[in-house]
Amino acid sequence: MNEEEKRLIERFYQELLDACSRCQSTEDKNLVRRALEFAWNAHRGARRKSGELFIEHPIEVAKIAAREIGLGTTSVCSALLHDVVEDSDYKIEDIKRLFGDKVAYIVSGLTKIKDTMEPGGVKRPETEFYSAQAENFRRMLMTISEDIRVVFIKIADRLHNMRTLDSMPANSQLRSAGETLELYAPLAHRLGLYRIKSELETLAFKYREPSRFQDIEQRINLTNEERERIIKEVSQPIYNVLVDHNFDFELSFRPKTVYSIFRKMEEKGVTFDEVYDNLAFRIVFAPSNIENAVAECWQIYAHIAKVYEPVPDRFRDWLSQPKANGYMALHCTVMAGGRYVEIQIRTREMDEVAERGFAAHWQYKGLDGKATSKFDAFVAMVKEHLNDPSATALDFLENFKTEFFSPEILVFTPKGELKSLPTGSTVLDFAFSVHTDIAFRAIGGKVNHKLVPLSYELHSGDRVEVLTSEKQKPQAEWLNYVITSKSKTYLKNALKRERREKILQGEKAFEKALANFKLTLNNRVLSKVIAYYGVNDKDELFYKVTDKYIDLSSLKDALKQRFSQRFIKYWRIHLPGGSTDRKIARVSESTTTTRVERFGKKDVLRLSETTDLDVYSFAACCNPIPGDEVIAYKNPESGHITIHKTNCATAIKLNSSMSDYVAKVEWASHKIKSFLARIKLDGYDSQGVAHQITGIISKDLNVNMRMVHIESHDGIFNGQIDLYVHSVTDLNNLILKLTQIQHVRKVYREEFFNSGKDTPTADSAA
Ligand code: MN
Repeated sequence: MNEEEKRLIERFYQELLDACSRCQSTEDKNLVRRALEFAWNAHRGARRKSGELFIEHPIEVAKIAAREIGLGTTSVCSALLHDVVEDSDYKIEDIKRLFGDKVAYIVSGLTKIKDTMEPGGVKRPETEFYSAQAENFRRMLMTISEDIRVVFIKIADRLHNMRTLDSMPANSQLRSAGETLELYAPLAHRLGLYRIKSELETLAFKYREPSRFQDIEQRINLTNEERERIIKEVSQPIYNVLVDHNFDFELSFRPKTVYSIFRKMEEKGVTFDEVYDNLAFRIVFAPSNIENAVAECWQIYAHIAKVYEPVPDRFRDWLSQPKANGYMALHCTVMAGGRYVEIQIRTREMDEVAERGFAAHWQYKGLDGKATSKFDAFVAMVKEHLNDPSATALDFLENFKTEFFSPEILVFTPKGELKSLPTGSTVLDFAFSVHTDIAFRAIGGKVNHKLVPLSYELHSGDRVEVLTSEKQKPQAEWLNYVITSKSKTYLKNALKRERREKILQGEKAFEKALANFKLTLNNRVLSKVIAYYGVNDKDELFYKVTDKYIDLSSLKDALKQRFSQRFIKYWRIHLPGGSTDRKIARVSESTTTTRVERFGKKDVLRLSETTDLDVYSFAACCNPIPGDEVIAYKNPESGHITIHKTNCATAIKLNSSMSDYVAKVEWASHKIKSFLARIKLDGYDSQGVAHQITGIISKDLNVNMRMVHIESHDGIFNGQIDLYVHSVTDLNNLILKLTQIQHVRKVYREEFFNSGKDTPTADSAA
């Protein structure tokens, strides 16, 4: 090792110790030093795409694990070593020998989860289509119950990779951003790592929609000075009242992230200013003693309510009912000079949990009984999911997302016990969460004493009772009423069991009926009968016999039926067994499964006016128009390409699960074809506004109107206009013109609407 290397290692070592407040004993320090030097040697000479030394990556990951998640020496060492096995000749055994079992376990966990962002990338077998990412994620979650530090370090790893995404090719950026938004950010959220979650979201947004990101970022920077003054003005009275009452506290302003502003604008259909005007503060305090913590949160609230008027219905009590990830705080919104001001109130311990989530619990077990039991419940749920052998990796991912990433609702049993369920759960889901015996016999429910059907969607605070009947049995259509994977799994199994029973029963009845004609069950008889009743196979026949869809009194006619050629063929395909059958099946299969080539990492599709529309179509879910940020998705089976907006929910999903078939798209200029877009507008209903609006649109040569709908009531009007435009530029020009009409308050493009067609509306505007 030369002098310069020694100096560099020394610097890295100091940085690590500064980041890790829990690595300060001599023993810990030595361990960190050894791990650093070992990793240095293993990655010697390697560089990242951006040009920096590769070793800086594990070091940064270790620093995030220590400083931002609050993990200790074992995790810091594991983070330093996390890419060693992948990128050098060292084996897990070497790490076990040198650093012990714990570190080796974590490193091996991290090695098994191949990150698509890592230098080596995922080497997946050619035959596999697209479930590699889902499988990866499942593997990661399997480690949760074993040692959750694997997941924490993986998140740190992802965060650093996202921070350094600039040097990656465009499609990799899209893929990583998609995965981050779909999986890692929600996971970080679920584990209570709020700050990391919002940084991940912001970074993902930046790469998915660079222009919108920049637009919002610029506006934030523009407004800063004036804002400083307002923030001070609003916070001062709160500060004063708490000082007057001798609280030991910090009052901080919570800046909004680019992504959170974007989300609010999208979700509520409001403008930047409307979101940005509202302020958010946090009060973190030291309670006079630990028993008073909750009571003092309420006292602080009471003092604030004297200063500013609280906004009704904008109040959340996470003290009596902590969130599933252990989060505790009091949230309220007050009105300060016509401005909504959100305030979070919590103690320093609660703040620690809020910043670092389960990592904090994991470290101080017994910090709070309620929160710790939430964590145990979480681990138990993850385990239950992983134990479902029938689920494929993709199913698993879907289920996991509905259950763990969607916000939860809290409902009460008739005895007043609290149950938490994912948002969207129905009475039937509730029944399954109580007991399958109750669910299988459920006929309806009572929610807050009112009679409701099993499909009724529950809301937080509902008191739910399930009504049962001894005669009830699981029904196939129930699959439409349940959302939790527990309900689905149990229900599917029960239906399968029942189907098998019915088939057996039907077979017996059928044999009995045949006996009347002195016949026994054989293939010849079966083929006639199957053809006669038009069913697919004998299982369906027997099933329908039991269910009385097929009446065996007509069996005589069925047996008289002469063989017809068409039916023989039909039957052969559907009944398994017999060599000719298989041949037929194979022929038809091979014609449908031609291999479709994936997109390369750097592929960019250029869409021009002359692009063949048989190969491309524009998604009806998001109706992209030239100039939008879009991606191309190639169907792995048909090869057909669909264009989606990058921020469309489908696109995000595709990016995270099918990224090999997704590519970035560039638009060539479009002047002939036009595309459907929708704008919405509102304003004060002074006479003639509608006339002016249509006047402007019809004079615009680049725009063709398809539908105008303007409604007015109580002096306000709302309008929706569907138009054909050539590009985003045309649309923006029109929006600008409409905005300038007097009495029009707001004009904006509706991003997602269903046009009902999956093909472009390619009629040409004059
Ligand atoms: Mn890494």
